[in-house]
Amino acid sequence: MANTAPLALADSGLWRQEALVDGEWIGAADGRTIAVDDPATGEVIGTVPDCGTAETEAALAAAGRALPAWRARPAPERCAILRRWHDLIMAAAKDLARILTAEQGKPLVEAEAEIAYAASFVSWFAQEGQRSRGHEVPAPTADRRILVRREAVGVCAAITPWNFPAAMITRKLAPALAAGCTMVLKPAQQTPFTALALGELALRAGVPAGVLGIVTGEAKVIGGVLTASPVVRLLSFTGSTPVGSRLMEQCAPTIKKLALELGGNAPLIVFDDADLDEAVEATMAAKFRNAGQSCVAVNRILVQSGIHDAFVDKLAVRVRALKVGAGTEDGMQVGPLIDDAARAKVADHVQDALAKGATLVAQAPASGRFTAPMLLTGMTEDMRAAQEEIFGPVAAIYRFDTEADGIALANATPYGLAAYCCTGDMHRAWRVGEALEAGMVGLNTGAISLAMAPFGGVKQSGLGREGGAEGLEEYLETKAVHWAGLQTGG
Ligand code: NAP
Repeated sequence: MANTAPLALADSGLWRQEALVDGEWIGAADGRTIAVDDPATGEVIGTVPDCGTAETEAALAAAGRALPAWRARPAPERCAILRRWHDLIMAAAKDLARILTAEQGKPLVEAEAEIAYAASFVSWFAQEGQRSRGHEVPAPTADRRILVRREAVGVCAAITPWNFPAAMITRKLAPALAAGCTMVLKPAQQTPFTALALGELALRAGVPAGVLGIVTGEAKVIGGVLTASPVVRLLSFTGSTPVGSRLMEQCAPTIKKLALELGGNAPLIVFDDADLDEAVEATMAAKFRNAGQSCVAVNRILVQSGIHDAFVDKLAVRVRALKVGAGTEDGMQVGPLIDDAARAKVADHVQDALAKGATLVAQAPASGRFTAPMLLTGMTEDMRAAQEEIFGPVAAIYRFDTEADGIALANATPYGLAAYCCTGDMHRAWRVGEALEAGMVGLNTGAISLAMAPFGGVKQSGLGREGGAEGLEEYLETKAVHWAGLQTGG
């Protein structure tokens, strides 16, 4: 297919339908391609190369060749390139948002917010990359010095999901490049165009050939090469827990560093003493953004008995008022789910909950390819939606009585990514915040994803952190350098 954009982009050069290997845009060696569609219409919007072993190995070889010079560059120089990349992303925000909405479906205003969020990682790490520092350890004898250096890990690989096609990429790429690593990235098959546009802007910002490779194609094949390669020293993966676990196994023979951002089952606890309006606001933010297709989306809303009915009434009004439709249409708040399988899974969860005694209290108007936002009450722990990520616009309410019950219910999951708590009692906020088994806790807020704060999970939600100072640490190794026999006069 010709490299022409199906969208009205101000900069048509951002519409890339090739893979990026060694600074060149290439097709698959055998010419095979994969079609990408718009989830709002089901229509094909473009194709990307179906890269395989040869293209992935070529990208890794280029990343290996580019590493010594990139790692040796002074950090301020690397970070100046990142700063330029940030500015180019922000200048192209409208185009990038159009691409993102076309392949992912979320409303344009949310897509623009994601682009700004994605860019914030680039600017954050353009600064943080200049602050990485080692230290000196007091030595046991006068003729010895011990320096602890922080060095780039080396060639890294990244595999990213479709739900945040821009932010999941910059959250990995920006700290890797700032630290002096090179990276080969495999974006999700359903959302490769945002990644490729970000790659185009990275080249324009001055990221040298080979420092960034982007290979599109079959996950198993590309993932197999990335995990087996002894050249790759770190794999950063965002996606589901079962795939993360498989990749961990595949990385074991070559002992790679792993950063795994996996699935969640986020609880939001609303206590009797919460501000009702604040609690409803937090729930709306944490449940319906991206049609509920977020790893930190509230999966279980746990509401204390005293506030339960008032909270349900207010939330029901908001749910009924949600505007559902194509992300490109003005005023839409909830777009389509990513594909048929996602729609079927959400429908199954709702069916299962209703069959086991839940009540459908409210629903927003939606038809065709769009899943209606819903509010269910009377949820219980035996329902599928209590155990698995709904990943859809369904607010599911569980009733509880005491603080201890609420905490126990919140922690009754093998996952531990995000948890939220709404209360007007600061003592309770601390108590509950400390008791929640999660990598991130939102107290009276449903928004917890910021570039300057560490993001990641405990339990089966993953390993490591992205964002914040911790996000840079993932891409640095520690080296102890011992000098002995020094004539220092000491
Ligand atoms: P997924 O199926 O695990 O896919 C994620 C990525 O892994 C995609 O690029 C996918 O490629 C690739 N992949 C799938 N199977 C693979 C294999 N055998 N080998 C190598 N790569 C493989 O997850 P998803 O359904 O797309 O994304 C939703 C999940 O991501 C949810 O569980 C969500 O909670 C989680 N998530 C977590 C975070 C976090 O920060 N913790 C953030 C966002 C999402 P293809 O697209 O080509 O299949």
